[in-house]
Amino acid sequence: MKLITNGIKGTADVLPAESHKWQFVEDIMRGQAQSYGFKEIRTPVFEHTELFSRSVGDTTDVVQKEMYTFTTKGGESVTLRPEGTAGAARAMLEHGIYNDGYPIKTYYLTSCYRYENPQKGRQREFHQFGMEVYGAPSYFADAEVICAANSIFERLGVKNLRLELNSIGCKGCRPNYHKALKDYFASHEEELCDTCRSRLDRNPMRILDCKSPICSEIAKGAPVVTDYLCDDCRTHFEGVKSCLTAVGIDFKVNPTIVRGLDYYTRTVFEFVSDDIGAQGTVCGGGRYDGLIEELGGQHTPSLGFGMGIERLLLLLDAQGVVLEEPPVCDIYIAGISDAARIKAFELTEGIRNSSLIAECDIVGRKLKPQMKYADKIEAKFSMVLGDDDLAANKARIKNMTTGTSKEVPLDDKFYDAFYNIYINGENDIYLSKIGLDEE
Ligand code: ATP
Ligand code: MG
Repeated sequence: MKLITNGIKGTADVLPAESHKWQFVEDIMRGQAQSYGFKEIRTPVFEHTELFSRSVGDTTDVVQKEMYTFTTKGGESVTLRPEGTAGAARAMLEHGIYNDGYPIKTYYLTSCYRYENPQKGRQREFHQFGMEVYGAPSYFADAEVICAANSIFERLGVKNLRLELNSIGCKGCRPNYHKALKDYFASHEEELCDTCRSRLDRNPMRILDCKSPICSEIAKGAPVVTDYLCDDCRTHFEGVKSCLTAVGIDFKVNPTIVRGLDYYTRTVFEFVSDDIGAQGTVCGGGRYDGLIEELGGQHTPSLGFGMGIERLLLLLDAQGVVLEEPPVCDIYIAGISDAARIKAFELTEGIRNSSLIAECDIVGRKLKPQMKYADKIEAKFSMVLGDDDLAANKARIKNMTTGTSKEVPLDDKFYDAFYNIYINGENDIYLSKIGLDEE
């Protein structure tokens, strides 16, 4: 039969056979966030469109081309979040979290939506892990979030990631840089793409980020931002670099990094890999001192990063990093007769109470296919129950690796008996491997 419909272009399903990889990566992210004192925030998948056009910036690709925006039945314009920062900042302001004192440190693990051309490492629905700090003007905060991102890569065993760092100045010094850029690009106005020509007046820094070959060629000769930094921005940037050097994190200053969102000030950074093709930026972030004011709050120096989980998984795969396998079934209990199946069901449920993994038949299979299934799920132990076993009130638990078996009672003592066999199991497997097992 023909499928009713397929998944939407640019989306991907995480199937049961690979979801453990996601969980493993997410657990490390949560663990590291906790180590740095960050707490999770969860915000809705959609927000008022204005939130993103105001914060992300209406001269950016994200707002100009990539947002999933629609009008609700009530006539409101809403947008699926293209990134995590705006929603987190909105929630922070709306609930007055800043009254609890600074800094506020929060993280999110969330889906994002951008109407982009799907390709390797670029989807329309993708996932980000992000960390956000509000109310932290010191360069130690910049260094802290960079260290936190780096610690996740280290924990995962990712290699060959380049940390690229830049400072794009502040409200004070950026106008000078904008002017220099405008003058430079104006002399190439005829050659620029239509989008960049429209950016020339309002946001010339965006031209540096344009993916068109002609614009990026022109951008190569553009004035360099670090030559235009004011003393405060320069000191801040030097501070970030000193902290990173102190903890032994390598970085490269790359004055062409401007990031794709308008809210950035001062520090911007990317972790880039050459192992996953053109979409090599696995993590991008920086400081956004003006964002909270832009959203109607008081001046709140803030910063953070977003890490693409799909790209990170591609990278782990490309580098052959072996992730922890999910735990397998500890015991499969097969039943032959109706009465034995009920007993199997009861004992299976009891074992789960002690946090071990147990399964029994829920398909209605005969004994042989039940045991085939036990093999397929790689159950460590198995037990078969028939009417004889019920009458004798005992049965045998088999170690599926060594083939040895031990008798257990089927009454209340069953659980302790199984637990004993279970904890000795590893030992039995070892003995069988060196040929010293008892049977
Ligand atoms: P790019 O230049 O690759 O489009 P970006 O500058 O738009 O990235 P950010 O908005 O900074 O990216 O998002 C942070 C991270 O989220 C990126 O570094 C990347 O890992 C991931 N990311 C962004 N867009 C996508 C996408 N369409 N599909 C998968 N991951 C993405
Ligand atoms: Mg992008």
